[in-house]
Amino acid sequence: MQLQRPDLLRDNNYINGQWQAAASGRRFPVENPANGEKLTEVADGGTADMDAAITAADAAQAAWQSETPKTRAQILQRWYQLIIEHRRDLAAILTAEQGKVLAEADAEIGYGASYVEWFSEEAKRIDGDILAAPSRDKRLLVIKQAIGVVAAITPWNFPNAMITRKAAPALAAGCCIVIKPAHETPLSALALAALADEAGFPAGVFNVVCGTQASDIGSVMTSSPLVRKLSFTGSTRVGKILMEQCAATVKKTSMELGGNAPFIVFDDADIDAAVAGALASKYRNAGQTCICSNRILVQDGIYDAFAARFAAEVQQFRLGDGRDSDATMGPLITRQACDKVTALVDDALSKGASAITGGRRASIGEHFFEPTVLRDATPAMRVFQEEIFGPVAPLFRFEDEQQAIALANDTNYGLAAYFYTQNLNRVWRVAEALEYGIIGINEGVTSSEMAPFGGMKESGIGREGSKYGIDDYVELKYLCLGGLDN
Ligand code: NAP
Repeated sequence: MQLQRPDLLRDNNYINGQWQAAASGRRFPVENPANGEKLTEVADGGTADMDAAITAADAAQAAWQSETPKTRAQILQRWYQLIIEHRRDLAAILTAEQGKVLAEADAEIGYGASYVEWFSEEAKRIDGDILAAPSRDKRLLVIKQAIGVVAAITPWNFPNAMITRKAAPALAAGCCIVIKPAHETPLSALALAALADEAGFPAGVFNVVCGTQASDIGSVMTSSPLVRKLSFTGSTRVGKILMEQCAATVKKTSMELGGNAPFIVFDDADIDAAVAGALASKYRNAGQTCICSNRILVQDGIYDAFAARFAAEVQQFRLGDGRDSDATMGPLITRQACDKVTALVDDALSKGASAITGGRRASIGEHFFEPTVLRDATPAMRVFQEEIFGPVAPLFRFEDEQQAIALANDTNYGLAAYFYTQNLNRVWRVAEALEYGIIGINEGVTSSEMAPFGGMKESGIGREGSKYGIDDYVELKYLCLGGLDN
């Protein structure tokens, strides 16, 4: 890999300000999902390494918490500037280990950095409050204090931004953090650690432990009494396990879990805008995002026209290695991911759907699936109930608004939803009826550091980003000042 700063490619864990091999001495390979090429081998951290990271974070916690907000803000600001300065290298590392095309990797670095910038500013606005008192001899005050050491577990689909979305608010609030990235994508996490080190975070404030033994490492994080909060992004299945484990020490948790986003196109929609929004929300990262449209619900009167125009656009995608400048869509992360998408499509086809375009694995490599549009999908198919996590858009048909809302809400997930209409009354009715934490109205791209990201129902707990994002990393403390003589 050609990098301007080859030292951003790290292969050891970052614990207490030091680059450390795993206590066991073991290493694991990191591969390019486009072709299986081994990029490097990384220290395979385990329970002892995570234990050391938590101990270091705990030792650094009191001093970091008592730094002035301005000092924390300045270090975060430096980290932000370093990330932007080295975004080409960070994007190259990200594409190599994750597979998304370089333009998308570059956009992720910018998106990830935006949280660091935002929370560098928010660090100075963690304000308390003075409340009305019930009697004249009392004053009631509320202060916000860092919750303590934070543990973060992150997925492979956004290996940079899912880290900054947690680390930036935690560090701004005065929390030290230990991070376990997904084993498929440790290099982006270690590159961020290299730049955090350069930015000047004191030893122990920021730690990264990579490893293949996720449940063992996770158990250390969830059971340690030194860890006061767990922030997790990943599947609902693993999120539930971690919540159960956190119950033993009553840890605060943030859970950014799976989604099953409906994308509703009403008859009165601007069809060009709806096609553009569906393309952007469905196929980004080859369909591997938690807010990807999973079920495209199209009203009867516009169904055929939408299907034809949408499929024509989908045919324009060019599959390839993310580093190839001609490619507009990369591979899926693993062969198993490709197997799962294949099984979902086969299930839909066997139950009466038809593929207008795509519908099978691509011939260019075993992790590639053709960008696919399925017509005549129905709720009896697995694609209605399960997160597809691949470049497959099933089109469902509905008759009226009530049916659209009922179909959209017919899932245990509640992360993102999208709908397209030109009717203002319908905008409010549908927005209020959808049981989702994020709603795109005539818009397919909603994410921003300035907005709260998070889900309802089994999609999670808590919000990342925006003025609300810091709340997950502070405790509200109530001070009752009594005995006053006036
Ligand atoms: P995953 O299997 O749940 O893995 C996520 C992370 O959890 C990885 O670091 C993984 O480590 C770790 N992990 C797995 N089992 C664990 C255990 N028993 N204890 C502790 N840690 C454990 O999810 P994924 O397939 O990588 O990611 C895709 C999922 O993430 C999708 O469901 C997607 O919707 C969701 N997601 C949600 C958001 C959001 O903000 N709501 C954003 C992005 C993704 P290993 O890699 O080592 O297994």
